[in-house]
Amino acid sequence: MEQVVERILVSEADLKAKVKELGESISTDYAGKDLLVVGILKGALVFMADLIRSIRIPIQIDFMAVSSYGQGTRSSGAVRILKDLDRAIEEKHILIVEDIVDTGLTLNYLLDNLKSRGAASVKVCTILDKPSRRKIPITPDYNGFVIPDEFVIGYGLDYAEDYRHLPYVAVLKPEVYSK
Ligand code: 5GP
Ligand code: MG
Ligand code: MG
Repeated sequence: MEQVVERILVSEADLKAKVKELGESISTDYAGKDLLVVGILKGALVFMADLIRSIRIPIQIDFMAVSSYGQGTRSSGAVRILKDLDRAIEEKHILIVEDIVDTGLTLNYLLDNLKSRGAASVKVCTILDKPSRRKIPITPDYNGFVIPDEFVIGYGLDYAEDYRHLPYVAVLKPEVYSK
């Protein structure tokens, strides 16, 4: 991976410790509530798998797949549902699990969409936050790491569908995508 990784931004150990912390906060905040954790595919897959195992209260899970990025590294602004939730969510407390909040366009769409279905509440947990690129003023309710404006890969995040399996978050060498 040395060929494409500029540097490691968040190590495997730091991710593990943060996920444990997030799971504890979520367990406390949602105790006694009917919680549905909704992972946003594919980017949130790895974080979701780790996060739900650090939650110590009963939960249910579901997934949505949306498209916002194509093959490149810039958002198109358009959000499309590729896979919807399996069930209705009326009266349920929803926690959206995201890999990264960048412009906020995806999240803004998801929040509106899920609130309009009659959820009791809709909150957001992301492992990475890039606030410097925000186009819509949204702050995640739970966040792992604030990162600078650099394109990152690993821990679920891809470049053209590659590198999702890397166990750490790394900055992609700019020459990889400026080619
Ligand atoms: P937003 O709609 O907030 O601009 O972007 C949301 C989605 O864009 C993320 O869920 C993620 O899939 C993708 N994205 C944003 N920044 C990055 C990045 O630095 N690396 C990768 N691999 N994907 C990103
Ligand atoms: Mg995502
Ligand atoms: Mg992507």
